[in-house]
This record gives sequence, structure tokens and C-alpha cells, in this order.
Amino acid sequence: MSYAEAWREDRRRWRRLLLWVIGLPVGFTLFVFALGGLVLLLERLFPPPRAEWLWELLQRVPSPDALFPVVMVLWLPGGMLLAFKVFEFACPRCGESFYTKGFSRNSFTLECMHCGLRKGAVEP
Ligand SMILES: [Zn+2]
Repeated sequence: MSYAEAWREDRRRWRRLLLWVIGLPVGFTLFVFALGGLVLLLERLFPPPRAEWLWELLQRVPSPDALFPVVMVLWLPGGMLLAFKVFEFACPRCGESFYTKGFSRNSFTLECMHCGLRKGAVEP
């Protein structure tokens, strides 16, 4: 794998991790607000005695309170898995783990923890 491909792969792993860790809670929060807003809007447009079928349908939608534990059960191990994928990224020069050395781990390092290759370096 060329250095350029390796750095692209590293950025892809980071994007996935950040999208999951930040995007999922933000997306879930937006979903909850959107659902609440939709219910408020429908209450205005079709007050409960009207459109009984609609209210029966909405009763079947799982409440955010019930979905929250499910989202958390998916979010935590998913985030751990994606973080693990970031940490196992191999340096394109030495082939060792870029972000870890022994028990030491630095996810914000800009240099390989084994050979010192700068992140984004071009192939010699
Ligand atoms: Zn290295």
C-alpha cells in the first residue's frame, strides 16, 4: 500500500469513528425533536377525535424512551470497535501500529510511535 493510500485509509477510519461517536447521538437527538415536532403539528392539524387511524398508527411508533437503550447498546460497542480499527492502523513505512507502542497509546500523535514517520508524509 502506498503512503497516499495508507493516509486515505487512516482518514477514512477517523471519519467513520467520528461520524459514529458524534453523528449517532446528534442524529438520534434530531430524530427525537423531529418526532416531537411532527406529533405537535399533527395534533394541531388533526385534533385527537379526528383521524383516529392516525393516532392509532402513532401509538405503534416506539417512543424515544424505549429506543434510547437500544441506541446506547449499539453506540458504545460500535464506537469501541471503530476506535480499535483506528488504533490498529499500520504505519505505511514500518508496518507497526501508528498510534500505539506497547501499552502507550496516543490517538492525536502526528508521528508514528515506532519510526517517527510524519502523518501525511509523501513516499521517498
Ligand atoms: Zn512507523
